[in-house]
Amino acid sequence: MKLAARVSQVTPSLTLAIDAKAKAMKRNGVDVCSFSAGEPDFDTPDHIKQAAVAALQQGKTRYGPAAGEPKLRDAIAHKLQSDNNLCYSADNIIVTNGGKHSLYGLMMALIEPGDEVIIPVPFWVSYPEMVKLAGGTPVMVNTTAEAHYKITPDQLRQAITPKTKLFVLNSPSNPTGMVYTPNEIRAIAQVIVEKDILVVSDEIYEKLLYDGAEHLSIGAASPEVFDRTIISHGFAKAYSMTGWRVGYLAAPVEIIKAATKIQGHSTSNVCTFAQYGAIAAYDGSQECVEQMRQAFAERRQAIFDLITAMPGLTCVKPDGAFYLLINISKFGMGSLEFCDQLLTEHQVAAIPGIAFGVDDHIRLSYATDMTTIERGMERLAMFVKSKL
Ligand code: GLU
Repeated sequence: MKLAARVSQVTPSLTLAIDAKAKAMKRNGVDVCSFSAGEPDFDTPDHIKQAAVAALQQGKTRYGPAAGEPKLRDAIAHKLQSDNNLCYSADNIIVTNGGKHSLYGLMMALIEPGDEVIIPVPFWVSYPEMVKLAGGTPVMVNTTAEAHYKITPDQLRQAITPKTKLFVLNSPSNPTGMVYTPNEIRAIAQVIVEKDILVVSDEIYEKLLYDGAEHLSIGAASPEVFDRTIISHGFAKAYSMTGWRVGYLAAPVEIIKAATKIQGHSTSNVCTFAQYGAIAAYDGSQECVEQMRQAFAERRQAIFDLITAMPGLTCVKPDGAFYLLINISKFGMGSLEFCDQLLTEHQVAAIPGIAFGVDDHIRLSYATDMTTIERGMERLAMFVKSKL
């Protein structure tokens, strides 16, 4: 069978593949400690679940507008105004099938053959693949551990060509856990405006900040950059709603209209009653977000201390999200082999850095319970000892 050429240019999602493998091993009775997908282990807070149940009981079971329930679009616009100082109305919002799908819709709406999209390395696994699916060219810019894996304004300036359409910013970052300071964001914003390109800011980890790190949404840096900004966001990480698949884009109206046209011919509206859960997430108390953040903060400290005590592994302390990116270059093997041996010999699941453009690293997600962290790190310590 001859499949479309676009498929052969795209690699499968390793984050999803390894998570699926770890979950299948667990189902078969294998005692796996999984640090694979970035998926909070908490259940969705009860008031959010109850809102979806009530919506089901009230018959919110039908098609809705492709761009999302008006009430949810209002709640999102309100959140972006009050939390992030971004002046959007409901017309600037499209509700999508998770944060990932918001980015896919954006690439489809914006990128065409010949367009370049700048992506700092390490990057989240799906960014370059989505650009390729849209026919564009991902342009990778390497960062360093010394610079905390953040792109500098000069690096960005130098990577921009007449073909550059979009820059992908992700702070707090998956897979590095790094957070750009407000001043760093302002400096990046200046380059965006000076070179007149667009920026998509993936802010899905916005609420997961530690040790006083601050999040500035790039669109709030100046009115000029606001006009060139698209926000990608979702409910999965902060409200433990990964399986609900509710995310969104906030952007100038013409982009939202274009993404809505595409959504109208592809997925239609996001599951109607799930959207009512999302309304409750934004309209209700934010106490649950803070409780989960505090749990992640404790786990981050514990896993960081355990990792940095192991010979051969180095790691920059993250100040956001729930990932540790660990340098494994002392082990003389690629990240796929490292993770494969770790899973086979010690039943610990980690994501090979090659998925994020850094084959001398692995990523651990610490969105899991403390017992798994302690047991998993004991096993990793044994593995590391046996390989050095
Ligand atoms: N975003 C999460 C991760 O990087 C979930 C998996 C995925 O969507 O790729 O692990």
